[in-house]
Amino acid sequence: MGRMPELPEVEVTRQSFAGRIAGATVTAVRVGKPLRWPLGCEPRSLVGRSVGPVSRRGKYLWLQFDQGGLLMHLGMSGSLAFATHAAAPSAHDHFDLVTTRGTLRLTDPRRFGAVVWAPALHEGMAAKLLAGLGIEPFDEAFTGEHLHASLRGRKVAIKSALVGGGIVVGAGNIYACEALFAAGIDPRTASNRLSRPRCTALAAAVRHTLEHALTVGGSTLRNFRDADGVSGEFQLQADVYGREGLPCRRCGTRVRRIVQGQRSTYYCPHCQRR
Ligand code: ZN
Repeated sequence: MGRMPELPEVEVTRQSFAGRIAGATVTAVRVGKPLRWPLGCEPRSLVGRSVGPVSRRGKYLWLQFDQGGLLMHLGMSGSLAFATHAAAPSAHDHFDLVTTRGTLRLTDPRRFGAVVWAPALHEGMAAKLLAGLGIEPFDEAFTGEHLHASLRGRKVAIKSALVGGGIVVGAGNIYACEALFAAGIDPRTASNRLSRPRCTALAAAVRHTLEHALTVGGSTLRNFRDADGVSGEFQLQADVYGREGLPCRRCGTRVRRIVQGQRSTYYCPHCQRR
């Protein structure tokens, strides 16, 4: 069972087909079982549209058409593949965008994913879904200063603040745990108690953790180049995530697991301080 697609997987997915689909014309749209939200337009109305650039915001992908576009999300279990010659859809294939260059297919067993039409990225349903997303981790404006200012007045545990995505996007459960370890911060620390230097360390750790995942994902993608799909799981060598009871790679103390916001948090009680 694959884990939930996170920002690096979504970005690598984007890179896997953005260049190939740009300039294609939509020839057919096939909609399978209902996804998280309705498509928001008549599928046939997309036929004849030309596909422009594919961009990413948080874990959403935006396929810009000559008029409007589609906002896509992989949900809990989704994957997108672009294939020149797609096989007949199977039970978990719920959306096909057939174009002159190939078929973009959403496969999503749990159907928490979404494909939503909007007149523009900042209009309609797309604007609603993207509202409240935090800053992009690779944005130059994501600095320790920015993080410190965003956390001011927030008493929630720093791990929960990161995972929430309202401050910075991309620090999902695994990456939040890993970044907090790298920055030496106890995941239970109240957000507003983090000093500016520690926020600087944390912002850098979030960015490095995601950059590393992108690099690993990039190599995974290259290995899969001949196939039409991209693996949803990147083989990260985690420092703490999923390592409960195992020795910390830095100090040998046993890694501990706690539950925060109904999700497992892993940390080293020696290396990570409040
Ligand atoms: Zn340690």
